[in-house]
Amino acid sequence: MDNNCLFCRIVAGEIPATVVHETDTTLAFRDIDPKAPVHVLVIPKEHHADVVTLAQNDPAGSADLLAACAVVAETEGLLMEGFRLLFNTGAYAGQEVFHVHAHVLGGEPLGPMLA
Ligand code: IMP
Repeated sequence: MDNNCLFCRIVAGEIPATVVHETDTTLAFRDIDPKAPVHVLVIPKEHHADVVTLAQNDPAGSADLLAACAVVAETEGLLMEGFRLLFNTGAYAGQEVFHVHAHVLGGEPLGPMLA
């Protein structure tokens, strides 16, 4: 755990979150500032700064994270109409929290990503 990391502190229960799914290795909770009717963040409980670091250092954890995203998409009712799965990675992409997190977005038409 990184005591200076917001999402590590959510994992530790030090900061409240609306948890929608949890496994031994992952946690999924609602984004505090949702950009769509459904906006869930899915994280590994272990600290990795971004998805590249996670993929390089923990392939099993990467698979767990994707599996958790799929469960969240299903339980949030997004499979029929579709949804967006997004990893902002690094400053140019606007990553603000450097504990890897997948954004699961849906619940309305999101439009083209790069419009
Ligand atoms: P990023 O830009 O990909 O790093 O996204 C960070 C996300 O974390 C943003 O969508 C924020 O709204 C969200 N966020 C920041 N603080 C909290 C919190 O305490 N709980 C839930 N979501 C948060």
